[in-house]
Amino acid sequence: MVEEQLIPRGIYDPATLAAMGTVPRHLFVEDAMQARAYGDYPLPIGSGQTISQPFIVALMTQALDLQGYEQVLEIGTGSGYQAAILSQICERIYTIERIDSLVGRARKIFDRLHYHNIVSRIDDGTIGWPDKSPFDAILVTAGGPKIPQPLIEQLGDPGRLVIPVGNQLVQELQLLEKKDGEISTRTIEQVRFVNLIGTHGWQN
Ligand code: SAH
Repeated sequence: MVEEQLIPRGIYDPATLAAMGTVPRHLFVEDAMQARAYGDYPLPIGSGQTISQPFIVALMTQALDLQGYEQVLEIGTGSGYQAAILSQICERIYTIERIDSLVGRARKIFDRLHYHNIVSRIDDGTIGWPDKSPFDAILVTAGGPKIPQPLIEQLGDPGRLVIPVGNQLVQELQLLEKKDGEISTRTIEQVRFVNLIGTHGWQN
C-alpha cells in the first residue's frame, strides 16, 4: 500500500508513511471486507458510512504537518482508522462521532491495539470540543457546505485545519492555516466524502 499507492502519488512525510505502514487497516473494516482492506479504494464501514481510500487518509494526515507534540481534534471517527493513524504522530487525539455504534466499535479496536492517546466522544462535531481547545490541528473527515465557525475559533495559532468543503456530491479538500493572527485557505484536492451532518454542517 505504501510503496504502490502512497509514495508514487506524492506522499513524502516520513511520519505519515511510517504510520500508514504500521496501523493494521484490516482491523478497522468489517470482517467480510478484510481481504480488500489495503486496496486503493474506500470501503463501507456500516451505518451508511465509509473508511476513506488509503491515499486520501495519507494526504490529509500529511497536510496537517504534525511534529509529534500536537493536540489534534478529528471530526468523524467512523471506523477509527484515521484517528489511529493520527495517534501515531501526535501527542493526543480527540475524536468526535455522531453515530454511537461506530464509536463503540472503534473504541474496542483502540483498546486492542493499546492506542491510549485517543479520546473519543459521541456528539455533533461541528460545534467542536471547546473544553479541550485550542487544538494544534483539526481534521474533518466528512464533507460540509462551509468550514464550521466553532472549529476555526478552536484552532490554535499556529494551527492547521483540513476539511472537505462543497456540495453533497463533490468537495474540495481545503487547508486553513492560522499564523500570527492571520488566516489563509487553499485547496489541496478534489474529493468525495460522506456528509457532515450537524448544526454547522448539512441539516439532514
Ligand atoms: N475518519 C473515518 C471516516 C469516516 S466517514 C475513518 O477513518 O473511518 C465520516 C464520519 O463522519 C461518519 O462516520 C459520520 O457518521 C461522521 N459524521 C458526520 N457528521 C458528523 C458530525 N457532525 N459530528 C461527528 N461525526 C460526524
